[in-house]
Amino acid sequence: MIVLSGPSGVGKGTVCRALRRMMPELVYSVSATTRAPRAGEAEGVDYYYKTREQFQEMIERGALLEYAEYVGNLYGTPREPVERTIAEGKDIILEIDVKGALQVKRNYPEGVFIFLLPPSLDELRQRISGRGTETAAVIDTRMSEASREIGMITEYDYAVVNDEIEAACRRIQSIITAEHCRRDRIVKEYSGLMPFIHKA
Ligand code: 5GP
Repeated sequence: MIVLSGPSGVGKGTVCRALRRMMPELVYSVSATTRAPRAGEAEGVDYYYKTREQFQEMIERGALLEYAEYVGNLYGTPREPVERTIAEGKDIILEIDVKGALQVKRNYPEGVFIFLLPPSLDELRQRISGRGTETAAVIDTRMSEASREIGMITEYDYAVVNDEIEAACRRIQSIITAEHCRRDRIVKEYSGLMPFIHKA
């Protein structure tokens, strides 16, 4: 399980779309949200759009692996596709906020936690404003939320600066490759090759 977080506007969505092209074998977790769709977004592709009541019902059913409120809207990761994908031995990437990532970390400490950083706070504000979809008040809220989120970087295993999309994607791809080569994962997967593991 790969968890990608980072402040709003850092380009997680763009990076994920580019990664999808670079790594078609990677499965993307589609979140549920009570936020209204933005122009160009599609049901089941970007999010599953829910009313508060529907979202509440998912929480009560235990259908969400984690959920969090972000700037007035609820966001959550449907549990079933994640568990199924992991059981199939495939990699899945969750693009979620810091609060959600911390919940996931408690249940899946073996996950790989990556934090995407903007090159600077000025650049971040420009990216949030440039999207043209948010009001000034929402931009301010997202900027203060961003500072708070960046402060949680110590909970993550890796940090990637999104200075240029292709470069950021290549770094994430390298992280995933390196994680697959971790000795503990290889020993588990190829245990037949190593009947006599030396235990210190
Ligand atoms: P946006 O409204 O810009 O699409 O997303 C706002 C924030 O919610 C982003 O930081 C995004 O990563 C986060 N988010 C998206 N899906 C989920 C989810 O399933 N769970 C949690 N905890 N956060 C999510």
